[in-house]
Amino acid sequence: VKKYFSVTGQWGRLGGVKGQVKAVNDVSFRLVEGETYGLVGESGSGKSTTGRAILRLTEPTDGEVFYQNENIFQVPKRKLQRFRKDVQMVFQDPFSSLNPRKRIGKTIEEPLHIHRVGNQKERRERVLDILDKVGMGPEHYYRFPHEFSGGQRQRLGLARALVMEPKVVICDEPVSALDVSIQSQVVNLLKQLQTEMDLAYLFITHDISVVRHISDRIGVMYLGEIVEEAPTDDLFSSPLHPYTQALFSAVPRTKNERNRERIVLKGEIPSPLNPPTGCKFHTRCPFAMDICKREVPKRKKIEPDHFVTCHLYE
Ligand code: SF4
Ligand code: MG
Repeated sequence: VKKYFSVTGQWGRLGGVKGQVKAVNDVSFRLVEGETYGLVGESGSGKSTTGRAILRLTEPTDGEVFYQNENIFQVPKRKLQRFRKDVQMVFQDPFSSLNPRKRIGKTIEEPLHIHRVGNQKERRERVLDILDKVGMGPEHYYRFPHEFSGGQRQRLGLARALVMEPKVVICDEPVSALDVSIQSQVVNLLKQLQTEMDLAYLFITHDISVVRHISDRIGVMYLGEIVEEAPTDDLFSSPLHPYTQALFSAVPRTKNERNRERIVLKGEIPSPLNPPTGCKFHTRCPFAMDICKREVPKRKKIEPDHFVTCHLYE
C-alpha cells in the first residue's frame, strides 16, 4: 500500500479584494505520494485559488489545508521552512517566473541559496544535475531566458521547482501556453520525472485531453466546488455529473467509449460573487429539475472511489 502524505484541503471563504468572496466553497481531496491529482474546470472555477491556498499564497478565512497531518496555516515557522521546500509550483508562463537579466543557472540555483543548501560547488553540481534531468545540457547554464524557446523555458521552470527535491509540485496550466506537439513532450517529461523523483502533482488545467493523459485521479470543479471526483479511467468511462458529461462531450472519444452526443452548455459560467441558488450548475444544466434551484445537492459516493454532487443520484 502506498504511503499517503495527505495534503488535504477543505475550506470555505477566501479573502478577496472586496471583502469575502466564496472563491472556493467545497473542495476536498487527497494528494498521494507519486500520483497526480488533476483539477479540471473552466476559468473562474477556483482551480488556481485552490493551488494557491495549498501553497499558503491565499489565506482562507474558514476551513483547513493539511500537509502531512498538520494544518499548514498553523504550522510553526521552523516547520514552514520544510513545507516551503517540499511543495513547489510551476506556472503557466515560464518566462514570467524566470528573471530575464539573470543567467539561467543562477536562477535555478536561487532556492538552494535561500535554503542554504551545500556550498557553491555542490549547488552548481545540483543545478547541472537537474538541468540534465529536464533534458537540458550543461551548455545552457550561462544563458539568459530569452535565448530559449517556450518549451525549453518550461523545462527550466520545472528545473527550478525540482532543484529542491520537493515532494509535491503544483502545476498550474503548465503546458497551456505551448504548442500541442511541445505540450506532449513536457507532459511526458513530467511523468518521467514523477517516477524518477517520486513526486506528487496537483495538476490544474482547463484542458481535458492533457488532464486525462497525466492524472491518476481527477476532480471536476465548477464555481468553487468539486462536483465529481473519480479515478481517471472511471471518470472517462462513466462521467456522472451533467457538467462532467458536457466537458467530456467536447473531446474526441477513444474507441472503447460509448458514443456520446456533444452537449453544448447554455451561457457562460456565472460570477462566483453571485452564484445561483441550489445547485450552482442549474442555470446551465440540461437536466435541471425543480429541486435543483432550491436545494444544494449532497456529495454522494457511487463507487468506493467515485463521488458526485448532483440530485440525479440522490
Ligand atoms: Fe443538473 Fe440538478 Fe444535477 Fe445540478 S443537481 S447538475 S442542476 S441535475
Ligand atoms: Mg487559473
